Amino acid sequence: MGHRTSATRNKISMLPTTAGAQSVGLVHIVGAGPGDPELLTIRAMRLLKNADVIVYDRLVGPDIIGLARQSCRKIFVGKKKSAHSVPQAGINALLVYEARQGRTVVRLKGGDPFIFGRGGEELDYLRKAGVPTTVVPGITAATGCAAASGIPLTHRDHANAVTFVTGHAAAGNGGPDWVNLVRSNQTLVFYMAVSTAGFTASRLIEHGLNSTTPVAVIENGTLPNQRTVTGSLSDLEAMIRDNAITGPALAVIGSVAALADMLPLPLETIAV
Ligand code: SAH
Repeated sequence: MGHRTSATRNKISMLPTTAGAQSVGLVHIVGAGPGDPELLTIRAMRLLKNADVIVYDRLVGPDIIGLARQSCRKIFVGKKKSAHSVPQAGINALLVYEARQGRTVVRLKGGDPFIFGRGGEELDYLRKAGVPTTVVPGITAATGCAAASGIPLTHRDHANAVTFVTGHAAAGNGGPDWVNLVRSNQTLVFYMAVSTAGFTASRLIEHGLNSTTPVAVIENGTLPNQRTVTGSLSDLEAMIRDNAITGPALAVIGSVAALADMLPLPLETIAV
């Protein structure tokens, strides 16, 4: 696996980034949803089946890649956070290169391409390169995980707003606007939440969120190995550690998180 990836990386770094033939192909930036292949859109499915080339991230599972034609070239460009992955510039160059060969390229991303997916950067690059590009939305992890664990992200009795936040930036770049995040009657969904959970919880509590605020951590949401653990904000870090949650996982923070246990929706019941 590692060997194949490094070969791909070398090849990508040699691609021309600007010059080249007239643009005849096109790129579809497609959201693959949170994991369960049944949560693909019909359009995503159709484009997958027609693609000449698929360029995909680590969050897109083999069941989804398997829907593509056998003759379709499948290029993996992402690995776990800690390991190497193809740099964004290399991915941009690859997409332009493949399209300029006249190919129909599907750039497949977990969830929705425009939610913490860097789809905006790719679209910008492709537009500037003059490559015709479409964007297909996907079910983002927050809504996928919420549905699969019975947590309504908004609810008349609990939350009139929901905010998607990245946990990644939390420890750097000044972090999010904590003051806004602790306002009442809202749900917070932290993506990339695992490694910064302790930091996130203490900042929220410091800024006034009650330490007993319900939280739910959902790992591998919508997949057969989904796990949901619930507790309160002060326990967030311990919940993740004690349950050995390594991700992909997100944290839902707010009183709706307490509803998770009331609405268990085992995946088997829908797989009829
Ligand atoms: N564009 C994606 C998000 C990419 S960022 C989307 O819209 O969903 C990657 C983060 O998404 C992970 O760290 C995790 O927090 C979250 N994530 C993606 N798939 C998930 C899943 N099946 N279950 C739980 N969290 C998931």
